[in-house]
Amino acid sequence: MGAMQGNVSVAVSVTITPIRAPVGWAEGPEEVPPWEPGYGWHPLQPSPEALGPVLRLWPWAGEDPPPELAQTIVEARSKLGPPPGRWRYPRLVLASPPEVWAPPFWLRLPPPLSPLAGFLKLGKALGQDLAEGGWGRKRGTLTLQRFRERLTAIAPRMGLLDPFRAGGRLFPEVVEAQGVRARHFSPESGEDLWAWAEATLTVNVWAAAVSLERGEAFAGFLAYLGEALDAPRGPWEGFAALAQGEAGGLEALEGYRVGFFDYGNLQVPLLTFPWGGLLREATRLRLRGTKGGYLNRHRIQELLRSWGLEGLVVPGPFRYTPPWSQEPGGKGRVYGLASAFHAALLELAGRMGEGTLLACEHCGQVFLAERPRRARFCSPSCRAMAHKKGVGRG
Ligand SMILES: [Zn+2]
Repeated sequence: MGAMQGNVSVAVSVTITPIRAPVGWAEGPEEVPPWEPGYGWHPLQPSPEALGPVLRLWPWAGEDPPPELAQTIVEARSKLGPPPGRWRYPRLVLASPPEVWAPPFWLRLPPPLSPLAGFLKLGKALGQDLAEGGWGRKRGTLTLQRFRERLTAIAPRMGLLDPFRAGGRLFPEVVEAQGVRARHFSPESGEDLWAWAEATLTVNVWAAAVSLERGEAFAGFLAYLGEALDAPRGPWEGFAALAQGEAGGLEALEGYRVGFFDYGNLQVPLLTFPWGGLLREATRLRLRGTKGGYLNRHRIQELLRSWGLEGLVVPGPFRYTPPWSQEPGGKGRVYGLASAFHAALLELAGRMGEGTLLACEHCGQVFLAERPRRARFCSPSCRAMAHKKGVGRG
C-alpha cells in the first residue's frame, strides 16, 4: 500500500509561554546539576534514565530531602559525564529538576513578568554597570554586578534565555549585501551571564527602534540610541560612523578593539562588550530594517516577527477539532513554548509604532511613556505605591 501525501495550510493561533523556572548560578562545570537542559534534561524530550533516581527521591512536596539524595545526584552526574565543554560560566542553572508531568514544568514560581518588561528592567541595571565600568574601556572593569543581581531576581519571573539549547541561534549572522559576507561576532547562545547581557542589549536596541516615530533617519536613530544608553560621546561618534558603513570611526573605538575578522577585502573589527553587540544589531537594522536610509516600520516588524518565531516551539501532536464541537470557555488553546528572548522580540513586533516602551518600576508592566526621559511608572497609583514603599525617593 502506498502512503498518500498531501499538504494543507492551517493557521494556528498560539499563546506564547516562556519557560519559567527556578534558577541559581553555577560558577563552573562542576556546579552544573544533572537536570540542566542540554545536559541531562530537555524540555521536549523525556528525561534520561540517569535522572530517574533523582526524580524519585526529590522532595516535591517541600519535605526534608532524604539523606541519599546527594549521593544520587553525584551518581547521575557521573553517568552523564561532564557538561558540554563550550558552555561559559557563570551561568544560570535550574535550581530544581523539572516536574516533568506538569506541562509548565515548574509550580510555585514567583509572579510572572513579561519578557519584554524583564529585558527593559535588566537594561537599566546594565546601563549602570556600563557607566561604572567606563563602557569596558579597561579590561576587567565590566563586572556586571548590578546586572547579575537584577537577573537573579527576575529570571525566574521572565523565563529561560535558551531553553531548547539550539546552539548559536540566538543572534543570527548579519550578512552584508553586495556580495560581501561580513559576519559580526555572535556569541553562542546559552544561559551564561554574557549571553544574557548580549540578549538584554539586543532587546533594548530593538525597543529603541520600535519606539521611534515613523520616517526616522537611520542616523537619527543612532543619535537617539546613544542618548538612551547614555553612551560616552567620542566613542559613540566613531561607532555611529562604523554602524553607517563608513570607513572612519575606528580610531575613536581604539580602546575597545581586540582584533579584526579578516575577510580578504574586508576587515570587520572585533570589539569588546557592548560595542560588538551594538554594531551587530545596528548593522542588522541598517541592512534589513531601513529603506533609503530611513527606518521602515514594515521591514522592522517583519524582521522581529521572523526572528522571534525562530525561538518558538509548539509541541504536538495536534488534533483538529471542528469549531461547532468546541465548548465555550476557550478549549483548544494552543500553547507555544518560547525562550524569553524570542518572546520579547515577538512582543516588540506586536507593539510597533506605539511610542516609547518602558517597564514600570513598581508593577513591571510595559507601558507607553509620553515623556520617556522622566517616566518611571505606568500609572499614578503605581507612582503613589512606590513612593509609599520608599523606592521612588531620590
Ligand atoms: Zn505600574
